Amino acid sequence: MNIVNVGYGSANYYVLRDDDARLLVDVGMPGTLPRLLANLRRNDVALETVRHLLATHYHPDHAGIAQELKQRGLRLIVLDVQRSGVATLNDFLKRHGASAGIALHDNVDLRLDGSRAFLATLGVAGEIVATPGHSDDSVTLVLNDGVAFTGDLPPAGFAAEKQAATVAQSWTRLRALGVRHIYPGHGPARPLDD
Ligand SMILES: [Zn+2]
Repeated sequence: MNIVNVGYGSANYYVLRDDDARLLVDVGMPGTLPRLLANLRRNDVALETVRHLLATHYHPDHAGIAQELKQRGLRLIVLDVQRSGVATLNDFLKRHGASAGIALHDNVDLRLDGSRAFLATLGVAGEIVATPGHSDDSVTLVLNDGVAFTGDLPPAGFAAEKQAATVAQSWTRLRALGVRHIYPGHGPARPLDD
C-alpha cells in the first residue's frame, strides 16, 4: 500500500492507494476543497478513484469538508464511537456559518469490531481502533504491516494532565497491535518509539 500525503496548512491528509486509490484519511477545514483537489492532482490521484473517506476525529481541520466530498461521490466511514463527534462538529460549523454540515443518515456506519471486514472489501488490510485522548471520538487506522494513522493522538509526554492516562492507554493499545510506524495528523511520519 502506497501512502501519499495530500495535506496542506499544518495538517496531513493521506491517500492510501495501490493500483487504485483506496481511502482518504482526514480532510481539511471548510473552504479548502480547492486546495485538496490541487494536491490530489499534483500527486496524480483522480478524485473519482478515491471512494471512501475516514476522519480520525471530527475536528474541523480533519473533517471540515467531509460533506462536500460526499457530494462528490465519496462515502464517509463513521464509526459508532464518532457519531456524537459528528454532531458536535456540525454545531461548530453552523455557528461559524459554514455551508455543509455532515449528514448522518447516508454514511457507511461501522462498528469498530466490523472495521476489519469492511476495510478488506476496499482492499485495505487492517482495522480501525478507538484511541481516545485528544478527543473522545478519535480513532486510529492500523494497517497489518504496522503502519498507523493516529490523527491528533499526542505523544504520551505531551498530553495534558487530565488526558494523560487515556492517551497512554491508547498508545499501549497501538503497541499491542504491532504498530511500528505512525502517520500523524500533524508533523512528519515517524517510527513509534522515537
Ligand atoms: Zn483535533
